[in-house]
Amino acid sequence: MKQKSAEILCIGTELLMGNTVNTNATYIAKGLAQNGINVYHQAVVGDNPQRLKESLDLAFSRSDIVITTGGLGPTYDDLSKETIAAWFGKELVLHEESLRHIEDFFQRLGREMTDNNRKQAMMPQDCTVFPNPNGTAPGCAIEKDGKVAFMLPGPPREMRPMFDNYVIPYLQKDSDTILVSKMIHLFGIGESMLEHKLHDIMVESSNPTLAPYAKEGEVQLRVTARVHRDEDAEAILQPMMNKVSEIAGEFIYGIDIGDLQTAAVTRLKEKGLHVATAESCTGGYVSKRLVDVDGVSEVFDCGVCSYSNDIKEKVLGVSHDTLVAYGAVSEQTAREMAAGVRRLSGAEIGVSTTGIAGPGGGSPEKPVGLVYVAVDSDKYSEVLKLNIPSRSDDAREYIRYIASSNALHLIWKAAGFLD
Ligand code: ATP
Ligand code: MG
Repeated sequence: MKQKSAEILCIGTELLMGNTVNTNATYIAKGLAQNGINVYHQAVVGDNPQRLKESLDLAFSRSDIVITTGGLGPTYDDLSKETIAAWFGKELVLHEESLRHIEDFFQRLGREMTDNNRKQAMMPQDCTVFPNPNGTAPGCAIEKDGKVAFMLPGPPREMRPMFDNYVIPYLQKDSDTILVSKMIHLFGIGESMLEHKLHDIMVESSNPTLAPYAKEGEVQLRVTARVHRDEDAEAILQPMMNKVSEIAGEFIYGIDIGDLQTAAVTRLKEKGLHVATAESCTGGYVSKRLVDVDGVSEVFDCGVCSYSNDIKEKVLGVSHDTLVAYGAVSEQTAREMAAGVRRLSGAEIGVSTTGIAGPGGGSPEKPVGLVYVAVDSDKYSEVLKLNIPSRSDDAREYIRYIASSNALHLIWKAAGFLD
């Protein structure tokens, strides 16, 4: 099985200047990795033909596949096609079908098509054209002497579907193997700790491969087998899944399950259980994420957004003494909130959050990011004390999100103890 390697070259002065975040490179790199294609280099170059040519020289000196994005548009600075075609010794010729698509596009919008839009239908001779249903500029693949360049549009909403629907199939077309993968979802362990634990099996194994992906506050592990037939995948994947389970089983909350809320709701449904939420600092985030899951009405009884102490007391039955003695942000209050909403609703599981989302309102004893998350049920109750770091420019959002993830995970966990 020949391993292909590719290079990503994003074209655009706005990327160089830092005005646009290079999300295209991330998207393409992930997609290539999932399809077993190695990426050893990524580059960004401005809208300048000479420097683009230099980048192509360098990229093709070490890779067989170069994927470019940007510069396919109608304006004078969109020079990618001319330059890349020239690199392959090709001229641009009019592609009738693309021209008709562009004309239709303008007609549908009721806008007049200017002459420079014709330029977008000029494609390198002998290339494979990729239609662009989300915009005007088509993409293409151009190939010569074992080297292939893919040219994709810059706007992510045009680039992404083109990459998924045309580039990946194009790259897989000569392959006699397919990739089959499973995603393992983990919560409560960081990416670096997980990599540390799995390091040996990660470097030892080439089929299947094991690749961790960090998500906000959680980690996913993709296990990918390269096989000739679908039926062969299980025998390759399962032993690896077992090894991961042995090493990190306590953190796994699902396989191919999507996300925490889906895992929680799925388990509640399987067991015929109900949940109710009492949220302070997350202000409904836990409820929101539960309700993101289709069919949640079967298992979700109610959510109380109990922001004031008064409501914590009056609606949830948190004792006045508790609030006075320990404060709203405390283990005791969290526990009583979870128990209270369970009582109020009759659900088998009650979950609560109370904390300091910041940026204001922190103190040395109770700093920003201190959150208590509690779960209450017949067979399993727990209160977590979290110290969520203030990350990014939107720490308030991050803290609330991570708190809600912990609450969802506790629902999932508690449901595991109940029948
Ligand atoms: P257009 O027809 O819109 O001109 P184009 O193919 O010529 O498309 P560019 O002009 O290079 O592409 O970029 C258009 C817009 O797409 C940019 O302003 C930017 O918002 C977005 N974009 C371009 N490259 C990237 C990238 N690598 N990552 C994320 N967004 C990008
Ligand atoms: Mg452009």
